[in-house]
Amino acid sequence: MNIIDHSILADTASRDSGSAGGVTSTLDKLNRPLRDLRLSVIDQCNFRCTYCMPRDTFGTDYRFLPSSERLSFEQILKLAKAFALLGVEKIRITGGEPLLRRGLESLIEQLAKLTTESGKPMELALTTNGSLLAARARSLRDAGLGRVTVSLDAVDDAVFRRMSDIDMPVSRILDGIETARAVGLAPIKVNSVIERGVNDSQILPLVRLFKGTGVAVRFIEYMDVGGAAGWSNTKVITARETRDIVESAFPLVAVVVREKTGTAVNYRHADGTGEVGFIASVSQPFCGSCSRARVSADGQLYSCLFATQGTDLRPWLTDTASVEQLAVAVRSRWIQRDDRYSELRSTQRRTGPGKVYPTVRMSLVGG
Ligand code: SAM
Ligand code: SF4
Ligand code: SF4
Repeated sequence: MNIIDHSILADTASRDSGSAGGVTSTLDKLNRPLRDLRLSVIDQCNFRCTYCMPRDTFGTDYRFLPSSERLSFEQILKLAKAFALLGVEKIRITGGEPLLRRGLESLIEQLAKLTTESGKPMELALTTNGSLLAARARSLRDAGLGRVTVSLDAVDDAVFRRMSDIDMPVSRILDGIETARAVGLAPIKVNSVIERGVNDSQILPLVRLFKGTGVAVRFIEYMDVGGAAGWSNTKVITARETRDIVESAFPLVAVVVREKTGTAVNYRHADGTGEVGFIASVSQPFCGSCSRARVSADGQLYSCLFATQGTDLRPWLTDTASVEQLAVAVRSRWIQRDDRYSELRSTQRRTGPGKVYPTVRMSLVGG
């Protein structure tokens, strides 16, 4: 049963914006709908991946959000309901490391009951570094989690340790993936950020390891997001280069249908043993179809991964504001949205060096 009244917002939104449109007309300035919500539930992480939270910036004296500043599960649920009113069909829980947030299963249980504006069950996914997955996969599935994406940049133990800058064997992540698979959390995706000279040796071993297991590996280009202090263009291995490396050992066939969210371009093994995806966020940005909003653990709405500033949603997360009022606030921000940072950056790269803007850190807004 639908637990929220979608019709109220259609009225409220039309009145509010003066437009004749209902909720499904929540388009931004570049005509992109709001379909996908990334909810960061915590900004802390037990890893220090060099491309995301380098230890010299995120050291022992780094000030993470105190738990009192994090949104409560009730507030997160209210947010999710408001975004559902606006047309969101998929919620991805992220962080920091989301499994560090205590009692996450009880939030998932609530989120799993939500329906979309058209009455379908809300798609619910989680992105994790996998370190706590073996212990939690079953309870996450029981709570109603649909699918899981595990970030894993290497199969080789030494490369894994170097890149995640953590004293933990890679086997722990592999156990997590295996347990998730065994309890039926499907489909499982593995996301690998490839950095030239650091883990490009791992492209083929990653493909080899997961081929035929039902787990799809997706290679992500290294981005200059906040946190990636050591980023430079020369460290980016493009999706095209990565694909050439994969194809040197494993024949691939293009999958014609692009993913709904428009990020990965997928290929399947010619022998039918699974898929490999390539996310060309730097070399071939997909801003034109970007329908993602991000909310940080302290309730800031970010309209782009590279935004420098968020919109504070906390005034609408109090008991005095309704879900519909919150939705109207989100909508009024979304319809102003004209972000296409990666597209602009790629034009600048072609036309010469451009200004590098300080962006919000990835571990706050989630990947
Ligand atoms: N801790 C969880 C994890 O690692 O899956 C969730 C949060 S993490 C910020 C989400 C995703 O962002 C990960 O898949 C990670 O690889 C990606 N990411 C972080 N920094 C990146 C960068 N500089 N370039 C590309 N992807 C990055
Ligand atoms: Fe942590 Fe994920 Fe960032 Fe790595 S990518 S430091 S696991 S938040
Ligand atoms: Fe979306 Fe911003 Fe990334 Fe472009 S740069 S795809 S608008 S998040």
